[in-house]
Amino acid sequence: MNEFSLIDVFFKKPALARDDVLFGIGDDAACLRVAPGQDLLVSTDTLVAGVHFLNDWDAFDIAWRAVMVNVSDMAAMAATPCWLSLALTLPDNNETWLTRFAEGLHAALQLYNIALIGGDTTRGPLSITMTVHGTVPEGGAVRRRGAQCGDTIWVSGDLGAAALAVSLLTGSDMDSADQSILMNKLKRPRARLDLLPILRSYATAALDISDGLSADLNHLCQASALGACLSLDAIPVHPLLKKHRPDQALDLALSGGDDYELCFTTASADKARLLAELADMGLSCYPIGNMVKEPGLHTASGLLTPRGYSHFQD
Ligand code: ADP
Ligand code: MG
Repeated sequence: MNEFSLIDVFFKKPALARDDVLFGIGDDAACLRVAPGQDLLVSTDTLVAGVHFLNDWDAFDIAWRAVMVNVSDMAAMAATPCWLSLALTLPDNNETWLTRFAEGLHAALQLYNIALIGGDTTRGPLSITMTVHGTVPEGGAVRRRGAQCGDTIWVSGDLGAAALAVSLLTGSDMDSADQSILMNKLKRPRARLDLLPILRSYATAALDISDGLSADLNHLCQASALGACLSLDAIPVHPLLKKHRPDQALDLALSGGDDYELCFTTASADKARLLAELADMGLSCYPIGNMVKEPGLHTASGLLTPRGYSHFQD
């Protein structure tokens, strides 16, 4: 199969249709119509074999995860994802692998009504770059800056499971039921688009916790020129961490990335109303502290050093 039939079979034919795609795959550029009164948000993420996933993973999971990693950035900005482009570098044209990859890709895009609108296909070491485009009502994007002193800090779900799953990749004697729950958290994350209405109504700042809570919250603090006072007891640590790594559980929850949960801030006066609204929606978010004037991450046991994933760490 050559480059063009490959694009046609695996990407163009199964691509979901949207009225706002005037034309997509097949021209030198896609043409998209942004509705009046909407702002356009654009974000790119690359996943490299051996760094973000292992070569022997089911290609369905590789594609699924790549979409969620990208869509999570839209969720963090309170944007609705609409369109996605895919730059794919492949070592070969293995049709079995491509079939699974395309299944995972289109399943994940279908879930959020995102159209695949183009990309590029090249030969080389396996690498996946996606650019997602989303929209938000004019002026409504939620940024990392914007948190106010006194605001409540929230996280959107249990943390640390994906980091524990990464540690299992090199082998473990954990029982297989728990292992598969953890692996599923790593390989099949769900972007938190279900929180969009909450973020649009309440959030003063937000970001996704892809690099680890302490590192990412520190980014929000710096962007908002404030610090955070955290109650470590309130951090939602995934139950399987408490079960299998009780000594490291809090540490993994604070510094482990890859969970794709969100961290956001809201006016402290909104806390009770927000908790009630979340309960009505059947969702759980956890207040873990407040924004404070003094820079840094403060806890009852002193300052916390922000730690998380960085590609060029010594
Ligand atoms: P160009 O010659 O400009 O690089 P290509 O020949 O690479 O264009 O691509 C042909 C068409 O297929 C374009 O519309 C491009 O956006 C689309 N395309 C290429 N690779 C992919 C892919 N992996 N997924 C989706 N669309 C793709
Ligand atoms: Mg090309």
